[in-house]
Amino acid sequence: MNGSLNIGKLFGIPVKLHVTFLLAIPLFAWIIGRDVAMTARVIEGFLNLAAGTLGILPRISIDPSYLEQGIAPYLVGVVVALGLFFCVFVHELAHSLLARRHGIRIHSITLLILGGVSSIEDDLPEPRHELPMALAGPLTSLGLGFLSTVLAYVADAAIASRPLAGALVFVLGYLGILNVMLFAFNLIPAFPMDGGRVLRAWLAARMPLSRATKIAADIGKAFAVLMGIFGVLVVFNPILIIIAFFIYIGADQESMMVRYNVLLKDLRVSDVMAREVITVPPTTPIPDVIRLMYATKHLAFPVLDQGVVVGMVTLDDVHRTPEIDRDAKQVRDIMTRSLVTLPPDALLTEAFRLMTRQGIGRIPIVEGTTLIGIVTRTDILRVMELREI
Ligand SMILES: [Zn+2]
Repeated sequence: MNGSLNIGKLFGIPVKLHVTFLLAIPLFAWIIGRDVAMTARVIEGFLNLAAGTLGILPRISIDPSYLEQGIAPYLVGVVVALGLFFCVFVHELAHSLLARRHGIRIHSITLLILGGVSSIEDDLPEPRHELPMALAGPLTSLGLGFLSTVLAYVADAAIASRPLAGALVFVLGYLGILNVMLFAFNLIPAFPMDGGRVLRAWLAARMPLSRATKIAADIGKAFAVLMGIFGVLVVFNPILIIIAFFIYIGADQESMMVRYNVLLKDLRVSDVMAREVITVPPTTPIPDVIRLMYATKHLAFPVLDQGVVVGMVTLDDVHRTPEIDRDAKQVRDIMTRSLVTLPPDALLTEAFRLMTRQGIGRIPIVEGTTLIGIVTRTDILRVMELREI
């Protein structure tokens, strides 16, 4: 992922921090420090509810007066934020370690503003491995929530200094709540939450993987839209809106990545490319190129000089040329010279990845220096549709 800093390795897995993570610390410190007294009551309520459920623990109370002095609220905010990210990291580590036990290689773990991402080498684990891998994370969060809650009681009972005990109970109780929320949130059966993977694994036993992914991703997008609307109209809450936005993007990316990996797997560019390519010589006047675009409905042509591809002229290149200059100029004056080409045996997924990454619509296919075809984004999208039948 772009914009990530390497911070080291654990169990041989590179761990990275995304730059957005650095924004998260002050943001969380502010959110948490803003109303310590109210938060303290929520934590008390949570701990006593947990005590009631477990039936063995004494009641607990937090005196917020110590936590409200000076920078203390922001200090506990920073500690909770760091603790939360440690817990998110352990959650991701649980996914990764289980994946590795199934022989799936892990690229890295990246911590982002709203959680973590484990980057898996094989983008698609087998459905029977996906279920335990997906559940490992939320169950780890539940375990961490339980542990934090128990430790809050231990801190309350064992530490004599009331301000210190209060701060520790606050931090541990807060982490208890956050981990239980992480557990519950990730069980939502929609991408990109872990529950989406559980749902996909279940659906994939009954239908093709690409359709299973699409359903899980569509539910994720619908959920994100509802959450966004709720965040704007019902309780105006910027955090909710940001989370909804990230869920939508995540669901979209997941479904796109899986779709093209599954549907284009084992296809090479030579299977899909158009073999009859309309080319233009570098000396073609611009008005002729525009006429050719009208006539063929193609918006780009490879430029061929004595049989060798020397560039590409696109509608964008024409647009960039001021209208009064167009009559006087030729293709060689405006064409794009740094050209992405692929050999015919290149994988179609590679072609699609290059197009997405570089924002280009077509790639000429060359053997040595000879142009033998062209593959367009539209062609690839049509192949995906056909393969989805
Ligand atoms: Zn997870």
